[in-house]
Parts: sequence; C-alpha cells; structure tokens
Amino acid sequence: MIVLRGAADLARLDAWRQPGPLVFVPTMGALHEGHLSLVRQGAQWGPVVVSIFVNPTQFGPGEDFRSYPRDLDADLALLRDTPVAAVFAPAVADVYGEPGEVTVRAGRRAAGLCGASRPGHFDGVLTVVAKLLGMVRPDLAIFGRKDAQQCLVIDQMVRDLRLPVRLVDAPTVREPDGLAMSSRNRYLGPAERARALGLWRALEVGRARLAAGERTTAAMAAELAATDGVDYAEARVVPELERPEELPEATVLLAVAARLGRARLIDNIVLRLSPQGVEETGLLGGPAQGPAPAGDNR
Ligand code: AMP
Repeated sequence: MIVLRGAADLARLDAWRQPGPLVFVPTMGALHEGHLSLVRQGAQWGPVVVSIFVNPTQFGPGEDFRSYPRDLDADLALLRDTPVAAVFAPAVADVYGEPGEVTVRAGRRAAGLCGASRPGHFDGVLTVVAKLLGMVRPDLAIFGRKDAQQCLVIDQMVRDLRLPVRLVDAPTVREPDGLAMSSRNRYLGPAERARALGLWRALEVGRARLAAGERTTAAMAAELAATDGVDYAEARVVPELERPEELPEATVLLAVAARLGRARLIDNIVLRLSPQGVEETGLLGGPAQGPAPAGDNR
C-alpha cells in the first residue's frame, strides 16, 4: 500500500494503469466496514486507489465540516488489512488550489431528498468527484448504494459530461441490528443510537407494504414519524427520482433521513416492483445486475 499525499505524487499510479482496470473508491475517511467492503469488491477487478478527503464544498453553513472525524493514521491502519494498492490523501489546496472558480452544477436528480434539505450539497459532491476523477483517472469508480441519490447524481454527471469512467454501486453494509454503517454514527449517544434504528424499521415497513401490494409509502412515513427529527420518508422512481402519487412497476428507491442530535442520518433500500413481488436490486447496473466490469470502458 503506497500513500500519496499530494497531486504531485499521482504519477505513481501509472504503474497500475496497465493492464488495469484501475479502480477508485473515493471517501471522506473515518473509515468503517462499509468503506472497506467497497475496497474488497473493487480489488476483484483491479488495483484499488482509495482517496481520503473531507470535501469542504459539500458541507453547508452550520453543518459538520469542522468537526467531521479525521484520523488518517486510524484509516491507514484499517486499510492495511485490505487489498488496497494506493491511498490518495490530498490537502484542500491540492484539490481546490488556484483559481478554483469552475464548479459543477447538479441536474434534476439532485432536486429532492437530500438535495432539498442540503442546498448546494450535490454541487459540491459533483465538483469534488469530477476533480478526483480527473486526478486519479480510474477506469472504474465504486460508490456505496447507502448514498443512493449521490450515486444517481454522479451517474448523471458522468453521462452528461461524457466522462470516461464506469460506475458501480455497492450494497450497504449494516450493523447486526440493521443500522446502516456511517461515519456519523460515532456522533450518536446511546439513546440516539437506539432511535437511529427507526430508519431501518421504517424501511422494513415500507418494503413489507410494497410486498403486500400497496403502492404508496404512507405506512413507512408513519413508522418513521415515531423517530424525532424526521427529514423525509419517500419513494422515488430510479433513475430519474420522480415522485409519482402511486408507484409503478419499476425500480424504486425507498429513502429516509432523520436528524438525531448532531448526526443527520440517511438510509434507503432499492426494490424492483413487479407483479411477482418485490426484490432488492441495485441502482446502476453494477454487480447485482451483471458480470465484473472489464477494463474496456474508455
Ligand atoms: P463517505 O466517506 O461517507 O463519503 O463514503 C465514501 C463511500 O463509502 C461512498 O460511496 C459511500 O456511499 C460509501 N459508504 C458509506 N457507508 C457505507 C455503507 N454502510 N455501506 C456501503 N458503502 C458505504
């Protein structure tokens, strides 16, 4: 595992470009088993580069940019037990530097859900992802389905800007009781940790009602309402994230968000609805749908 601390070190990645594919897993650090699962998944396709960068532009005023957990040594220790090839941990100046005026503006997929609660968030995400893709130049990039809207917003950018990278969405890793792993779970006190399970319970109610033939999410929203600090509990159609009154037979995203003390947590499940029932699926035609990506996507 080599550690690259600045943009000047990136030439060292060239050793892994052939035969490739070079695989990229962007993160903000504070790593947990969810992140490590992305690395392990990527390693089956090619050498994996993990970036660790807390991106200032995706945090809004009053959000947790300054207090976001940062511990590079702990992250590197966790990564040493994975098949990672390189870690890229740039400084803000490496990524934003001078003049840093050009940004990416997210499209329609960013309008609702977290985009509505966090104005400008997805513009910041897309700007940093575009920059990191330009610096690392991977053949394939893996994102967690846990951040489903993020996956779809990035997918729209890659398509619209014709970026030469293939995207894969990886399944959400959960604690044994169902809580989705998140760097922000470490903000939770014991009472908040117990309440946080309400997100998963609401998704389970939503799934059960859809499996029973309902085509709305009233029951899921009612279940989440028992958790304080609800932000949203919605169903959206994948990939464009429309919000019809009644869900069609299609791939749908059940998505929930709530604020628990300092932590704003999100979770979701992706379900394919059909006359035969409901089945968990992926967002981007990644591993759930097809064989391992080849390195011929440029
Ligand atoms: P973050 O460091 O929170 O920006 O996350 C970096 C990447 O890890 C993103 O693609 C996330 O979607 C993904 N990720 C975060 N939590 C999980 C999880 N519990 N399971 C799978 N992937 C995750």
